[in-house]
Amino acid sequence: MDFTKYEINKDIYYQGKPLFTQDKCRVMAGPCAVESRDQILYTAEKLRDAGVTVFRAGAFKPRTSYGTFMGAGEEGLKWLEEVREQFGMWIITETSDSENFEAVSEVTDIVQIGAKAMYNYSLLKGAGKTGKPVLLKRHFGSTIDEMVKMSEFILAEGCHDLAYCERGIRTFENSSRFTLDLCGAEALKHMSGLPLVLDPSHSMGYSYGVPNIAKACVAMGCEGILIEVHHNPKDAMCDRDQALSVEQFTELYETMKQIGQAIGKEVI
Ligand code: PEP
Ligand code: MN
Repeated sequence: MDFTKYEINKDIYYQGKPLFTQDKCRVMAGPCAVESRDQILYTAEKLRDAGVTVFRAGAFKPRTSYGTFMGAGEEGLKWLEEVREQFGMWIITETSDSENFEAVSEVTDIVQIGAKAMYNYSLLKGAGKTGKPVLLKRHFGSTIDEMVKMSEFILAEGCHDLAYCERGIRTFENSSRFTLDLCGAEALKHMSGLPLVLDPSHSMGYSYGVPNIAKACVAMGCEGILIEVHHNPKDAMCDRDQALSVEQFTELYETMKQIGQAIGKEVI
C-alpha cells in the first residue's frame, strides 16, 4: 500500500488534545467486557484516580465459544457514556459486526476494530467514515502486509487518524496465549510511521506475565498500550486469566512511567 496517497496524521489529536503522539505512550486500561454498571463505574473511578485517561471495555464481545457471555450490549454502552461524563475519560470500545456498528461508533471516542473483525469490510469502511480515530487490531492469523492492506479500506473512506495494534499472532508456541510479534510491529512502524499500540494482555494471556511484557512494550517506544484490568479478576466474565487487579495495574503504571522517562517518551 502506498501511504503517501493518503493524508494521515502521524500524531493523532482528538478534541484538540493529543491522543496518540510520537512523544508519548498512552495507556488505555479497563476490563475486557462491560459486565454491569457497578463494575464499570467502580473500575473507571479507580483507574481515573490512578491517572488513566482512556477507559477500555467491550460492550459487544465476539466470543469463540457459543453460550459464553458476550458483553452487556447497548445498555453497556450507556454505562460507558456515564464514565465519560462522570470521570472525563475517553472511551475505547470495539464494534464486532454491522449489527452494533452504529450504536458503538456513536458512543465511542476511538473506534476499535477487533482482531477477529480485521477482515470485515463493512466495519472497516464504516469506521473510516466516522471522523473518529480508529484502532485496527491485527488478526492473529494475518501478516503485517495483510493488515496494512486491510487498513486501506479505512483510509480510502477519508480517515486521517489511524493507529495499528499488535495483539499477538498464532505460532507453534503455546506457553502464552499468542505470540506478541514485536519485530512485525517494528516493521509496521517503519513502513507506516503511524501510531503503534501494543496489547500485552491478549498476547500473554496470563496475568503473571502481563506486567513484564507491558514494560517491554513501553521500552520499545510504542505510542499506546492496552491493558485489561478487572476489579476482581477471578470473577471476570471474559478473559479472566489475563486480567490485572487494580492494585497490580497501579504498580505497573508507575514503573511504566519510569521506563518512559528513560527512553524520552512520556507515559500518560
Ligand atoms: C479486546 O481488546 O478486548 C479484544 C477482544 O481483543 P482482540 O480483538 O485483540 O482479540
Ligand atoms: Mn479481552
